Amino acid sequence: MMSGKRDYYEILSVPRDASKAQIKKAYRKLALKHHPDRNKSPKAEERFKEISEAYAVLSDDEKRKQYDMFGHEGISSRYSWDDIFRGADFDSVFRDIGFGGFGSIFDMFFGGRMRRRGGPKRGVDLRYDIEISLEEAALGISKDVRMPGYQACAVCKGSGIKPGATSNACPKCRGTGQSRITKSFGAMHFTEVRPCKECRGEGINIKNLCKKCGGTGAVERFRKLRLKIPPGIDEGFSLRLEGEGKPGARGGPRGDLYVVVHVKPHRVFKRRGSNILCEAHINFPQAALGSEIYVPTLDGKAKLKIPAGTQTDTLFRLRNKGVPQLRGWGKGDQIVRVIVQTPTKLTRHQKKLLKDLAQEIGDEVTF
Ligand SMILES: [Zn+2]
Ligand SMILES: [Zn+2]
Repeated sequence: MMSGKRDYYEILSVPRDASKAQIKKAYRKLALKHHPDRNKSPKAEERFKEISEAYAVLSDDEKRKQYDMFGHEGISSRYSWDDIFRGADFDSVFRDIGFGGFGSIFDMFFGGRMRRRGGPKRGVDLRYDIEISLEEAALGISKDVRMPGYQACAVCKGSGIKPGATSNACPKCRGTGQSRITKSFGAMHFTEVRPCKECRGEGINIKNLCKKCGGTGAVERFRKLRLKIPPGIDEGFSLRLEGEGKPGARGGPRGDLYVVVHVKPHRVFKRRGSNILCEAHINFPQAALGSEIYVPTLDGKAKLKIPAGTQTDTLFRLRNKGVPQLRGWGKGDQIVRVIVQTPTKLTRHQKKLLKDLAQEIGDEVTF
């Protein structure tokens, strides 16, 4: 559903650096125009969904950041359709323009997902946390992982129905979960709807459920999955693998699998956005006279020229030695902090040289 989608900023006609107030204002204006209560054209509902989705994402700091970095991919890989709208402030916008709360239109958005009780149900989403190294995060990796998961039950082939049975619907209420009782008072008839007593409102005939999987249609099973982690990914990002979640009950579609990435601390490098930070230690003569040293980078050692007279804590930049940008082009840099070390274990001869140096410089030194 994500390909060919229009850019959220474009949908709301706001610049990429728009403030929250600008975004809200733009949405309010468009909502007024396309709200289905006001605009009866058949395209209005689609358009209204589109602007509402853009607003839901751009008005939320976390989602906006994810979108700015990864585009629609970033949103669809991390949030379910419901999650996109969760937490966004629609109520105050609709109050401002005199429409009812979001609840009523929320139904319109998600109406299609409602299903009859006892019918197929979408499987739940699963979450898997993976720990990778900083190098793997920077360069990207394709990796086979063994993870707990589910597969369709072999006995009932995922239907959840006992072999031989044709349906798992409650015979009393025919799967609706409801029983209707009509009472008559003279000419007046009242129909009361109650939960079915036989199935306690579940609509299911427990006797016909598959015993192997308890009617869920899925059994737990370790499995191997190939994960493709794009270069430039960072701590806390998640990848959504569509349809890799738990199989749905009674033949419903599978949920999604969210792989949450964690990056192990590195013994040499620290990461700041797309830049890599590290420290390099040099001795006093190297700092004073200048020298060339080798520093580790993500792709091997790189030469760094230390100019004469370098002070401790000086920062040097190695261009394009950082992490690739997840979206867009180019790489960050590596920032090297040079630390000048004071010698601690000196031989008699070395001490003499330093004393001579001190006298030569003319500083007052008491030995
Ligand atoms: Zn089964
Ligand atoms: Zn029933």
